Amino acid sequence: MDYEHLPEHRIGFGKGFLEIVRYIGVVLLVGMVVATAFTLWTPASVLPRSAARDIARAMATRVGRNASPLPPTNTPEPRELIGIVAGHSGNDSGAVCPDGLTEAEINLNIAEQVKDTLYSEGFDVDILNEFDDRLTNYSARALVSIHADSCDYINDEATGYKVTASLETQTPVESNSLVSCIIGRYEAATKMNFHPGSITYDMQYYHAFREVNAKTPAAIIEVGFMNLDRDMITNNASTVAQGVANGILCYVRNESLGIVE
Ligand SMILES: [Zn+2]
Repeated sequence: MDYEHLPEHRIGFGKGFLEIVRYIGVVLLVGMVVATAFTLWTPASVLPRSAARDIARAMATRVGRNASPLPPTNTPEPRELIGIVAGHSGNDSGAVCPDGLTEAEINLNIAEQVKDTLYSEGFDVDILNEFDDRLTNYSARALVSIHADSCDYINDEATGYKVTASLETQTPVESNSLVSCIIGRYEAATKMNFHPGSITYDMQYYHAFREVNAKTPAAIIEVGFMNLDRDMITNNASTVAQGVANGILCYVRNESLGIVE
């Protein structure tokens, strides 16, 4: 053994060991710096803008799904449908006054205001002609036909309104409930009286009652007489329309008739 070289050898070994330690130290230091830098950088600042946007969107979607299992609120609720027949429209004038005022124009004016009210309350509304092709198998929450009575002077009793459903209806409970609702709400709005004893065969066997789908509750209203009730059903048509609309809403919302609005 060459003891002369031993110390040098030991020193040499020592130098090499220190270099390795220093090298490992540098590697660890660089590693820490790089790791820290990556931790501080957000993906948005590292990635191209488009990729960052995709990630943000994906994260937002995941958060949205986790946070809210309900469907997005911008999906509109399906609106229920109500049909309104504007009596005589598209067919004939109906009753006519000496000055030319027609029942058809009174009916249509009221029907359109009923439609506006029901639409604003969340329903889709069809205005139908008297003999509308759409009435065949018409399917809706309710169908109401609007008419008015004669403009002839009959007697002082020829005033008031009347409402009826079909006598042959296959939905007697629903149709009678619709009629009761219209009577209650129409009287509350107009303060008119039910005209007693004059519901006619024509009303009870009204053609549309036979045409609509058997499950569509239907009613017909004569809103008033064009002679003695003329002021109410023309100048106060908005009140008349509100009464009809409230009656339909009472039915479709299953309101208690005890509640006076
Ligand atoms: Zn009529």
